[in-house]
Amino acid sequence: MEGGKLCGICFTEAINIKQHLLRMHKVANLEELHLLQKYGSARTTAVLDCPCCVKKGVVRLDKHLQNLHNKTSSDERAALLREAKRFAIIKELRDLRLSDPSVPLVSELDLGTSYHMDQERPGPSRVDYEARIQRLEARLTSLERSHALLQKKCRSLQVAPAPVAPTSAQKGEHVDKH
Ligand SMILES: [Zn+2]
Ligand SMILES: [Zn+2]
Repeated sequence: MEGGKLCGICFTEAINIKQHLLRMHKVANLEELHLLQKYGSARTTAVLDCPCCVKKGVVRLDKHLQNLHNKTSSDERAALLREAKRFAIIKELRDLRLSDPSVPLVSELDLGTSYHMDQERPGPSRVDYEARIQRLEARLTSLERSHALLQKKCRSLQVAPAPVAPTSAQKGEHVDKH
């Protein structure tokens, strides 16, 4: 979508990303909101890490990609630059999370990325993953339970004859229920 900004929570595009983040995702932490807006347009003035090698803090990443990685297509370079910028913003989100903000974060971008991140510090991501697995397992159990209930319901519906809807001729007649 032209002019759309990428939502870092549901990964759809929104024209008005700020409203989308506030209304759809109830982002309440203003710093998080600001970072997610930057993520949406992949705009940052932060120093960038090269997505193609281990070099960090590359001053002219565009030139670096062209000269060191032989990325001659400007489209490809633009895509890699966007990736590097989004990654820099994700790191800011991670730092925000590590600062233990009083208003909790709703986005999880910094919990699922691995690009150069593991080398830096182990961080709390392992614990977060364990909590997420627990949540997902609980959800799976409840889904399995409702699935079994639905199957049971489905079987009983197949056995019993379907209730006959009163036709227009029968309208007004008393329908005897047993
Ligand atoms: Zn969204
Ligand atoms: Zn590089």
